[in-house]
Amino acid sequence: MEKKNIDWGNLGFGYVQTDKRYVSNFKDGSWDEGTLTSDPTVVINECAGVLQYAQTVFEGLKAYTTEDGHIVTFRPDLNAARLKASAERLEMPAFPEDRFVDAIAQTVAANEAYVPPYGSGATLYIRPYLFGTNPVIGVKPADEYQFRVFATPVGPYFKGGVRPLTIRVSDFDRAAPHGTGHIKAGLNYAMSLHAIVSAHKEGYDENLYLDPATRTKVEETGGANFLFVTKDGKVVTPKSSSILPSITRRSLVYVAKEYLGLEVEEREVYLSELEDMAECGLCGTAAVISPVGKIVDHGKEICFPSGMTEMGPVTKKLYETLTGIQMGRLEAPEGWIKVIK
Ligand SMILES: *Cc1c(COP(=O)(O)O)cnc(C)c1O
Repeated sequence: MEKKNIDWGNLGFGYVQTDKRYVSNFKDGSWDEGTLTSDPTVVINECAGVLQYAQTVFEGLKAYTTEDGHIVTFRPDLNAARLKASAERLEMPAFPEDRFVDAIAQTVAANEAYVPPYGSGATLYIRPYLFGTNPVIGVKPADEYQFRVFATPVGPYFKGGVRPLTIRVSDFDRAAPHGTGHIKAGLNYAMSLHAIVSAHKEGYDENLYLDPATRTKVEETGGANFLFVTKDGKVVTPKSSSILPSITRRSLVYVAKEYLGLEVEEREVYLSELEDMAECGLCGTAAVISPVGKIVDHGKEICFPSGMTEMGPVTKKLYETLTGIQMGRLEAPEGWIKVIK
């Protein structure tokens, strides 16, 4: 299979149109058989539920070329389960979980020429999503839906080296208690756009959102969960019902315990504890884990001892172990790696 002529090492994180995408439609209470198509456009009614009332949920995962030349994805069954949970919260029909995994495999295989080679640092980002398509003007769930999966090659996250992030404690809230913070819905991102644009204007990379009820506990950023490392080497990650359950974070917790023999605590984490932490990282599919060097709370700077030039030692071990599993350099736990070809 001949790869596309792409400068893999210099790709950014942007949309590059690939050859094929998967589409299935839900009508009269059931999903059709689904198909791959070359058409990247979506044509829907002007009054579609997604356009009027934001009835849409999504997922994000990657395909990798392993050291021995296979193309694999990482724990797509967990993305299938999470999309189902997200859909149910917004009164949408879930796409069957086994068919979800098959749709990912079909989309990746059909775009094999766009899967970056091993060692390039680049990956194929996969975006499954689901949205209401039929006209809805009174507020209610749509009756018809479309599920799509497209793929786009993305560059190495730490292009030009690791650069620890500077984050501000946000005055905006991300997710209400008992709201929708735990599902992967576009609506959680729409309301974060103003906060991220204003953070960037003030020179910060990201927002740290607090729990809106007490504004004392750490939740997450707009698109990644937190992991902290204490000075005695324990891994601590915030627990809250309004945090999006990151698959990367859950995998890193397993890696910390089972591969690195570290103690892990999933518990409420208070903002006031952060000055005692040794390391801080953000976890998500995009970066696996990106180090945070500094958190600024209204002028008060919390500087982690790991500094502003490199990953802390535990963060680095976590990063190397999980990417080693994903790229086939380390043996994976049972069921984590789905081989596409
Ligand atoms: C997608 C997402 C994450 C990261 O989840 P992964 O499954 O690790 O990619 C974290 N927080 C939010 C709000 C997200 O939408």
